[in-house]
Amino acid sequence: MSTTVENVVIIGTGCAGLTAAIYTARSSLNPLVLEGSLPGGQLTTTSEVENFPGFPHGVDGYQLTQNMREQATRFGTRFEQALVTSVDFTTMPRKLVVADRTILARTVIIATGASPRMTGIPGEKELYGGKGVTTCATCDGAFYRKMEVAVIGGGDSAAEEALFLTRFASKVYLVHRRDSLRASKIMADRATTHEKIVPVWDSVPVEVLGVKEGAVSGLKVKNLKTNAESVLPVKGIFVAIGHIPNTGPFAPPLAVDEGGYFKPQPGSQVQTNIPGIYVAGDCSDHVYRQAITAAGMGCAAAIEAERWLAEHHSG
Ligand code: NAP
Repeated sequence: MSTTVENVVIIGTGCAGLTAAIYTARSSLNPLVLEGSLPGGQLTTTSEVENFPGFPHGVDGYQLTQNMREQATRFGTRFEQALVTSVDFTTMPRKLVVADRTILARTVIIATGASPRMTGIPGEKELYGGKGVTTCATCDGAFYRKMEVAVIGGGDSAAEEALFLTRFASKVYLVHRRDSLRASKIMADRATTHEKIVPVWDSVPVEVLGVKEGAVSGLKVKNLKTNAESVLPVKGIFVAIGHIPNTGPFAPPLAVDEGGYFKPQPGSQVQTNIPGIYVAGDCSDHVYRQAITAAGMGCAAAIEAERWLAEHHSG
């Protein structure tokens, strides 16, 4: 076991982790960032990002995270490819076990993100990301002006995505496997009474069409009551069937809510139930899930870590 004790270890290289790295590095904390299987996080699977402040003409999602990484590196951040397999937060310093060693850390910022749940139907994977299948209306909705699109799901996310898409699309099919939405009543009412939204009840998606052409040309659905199959003539498919937060080996000991997301202490967005351990971004946020909100939480976690170190390890 190495005897070096890191001031701060940041886990994850999405917007939250990289922003935490920029802030802690600029505070001369010499952060170590561990990156997992999707360096750069969910943004790297989006093509154009048009809503990140500071880029009036949009920015490529991959380029945006590369820029953040470069900015973090400039101030001395160290990056290492490593998956944390287990932790011991009962000791001080905290212990993080990766493949070949145990890393010791005074503070830890967990920014491991969340993975969108996918349907797994044929064509979905092949046409994901820039080819018509997406999981983010806020990110990609504007690309479907005057086109027909489909949203899959029946929760608040699906209702919200469908309503957002009515700003651009000519028609929004809302494909749900039941005959009513599980979304909150107000969202469900808004979605089902909107003139552009066409609910496709009791139906499951069966196949995304257009793999040969490299772009979505339709969505085949099956009615569960009649077994009849039909094709929705859509160019965009928005999968909104929930997210799976990446809480891996950290929960327990860290507290999570009923959806499995990290649950910060009351009154804080980032402080966990263990002192000096912080969470940021989509692993603890199922409400906003935006690059800019994740970055904001990364900033807050960095400032909290900095204050904690000043209080407990000054000099
Ligand atoms: P959710 O509430 O878990 O809903 C997921 C939906 O996807 C359900 O309708 C579910 O169907 C369906 N589904 C799941 N797996 C499926 C599959 N394999 N194939 C087809 N359909 C499938 O997830 P969410 O909508 O992302 O919301 C997550 C949490 O965030 C909720 O607590 C929600 O209230 C909250 N949220 C709030 C807001 C807001 O207040 N503005 C916005 C977004 C999210 P069943 O109904 O049959 O289970």
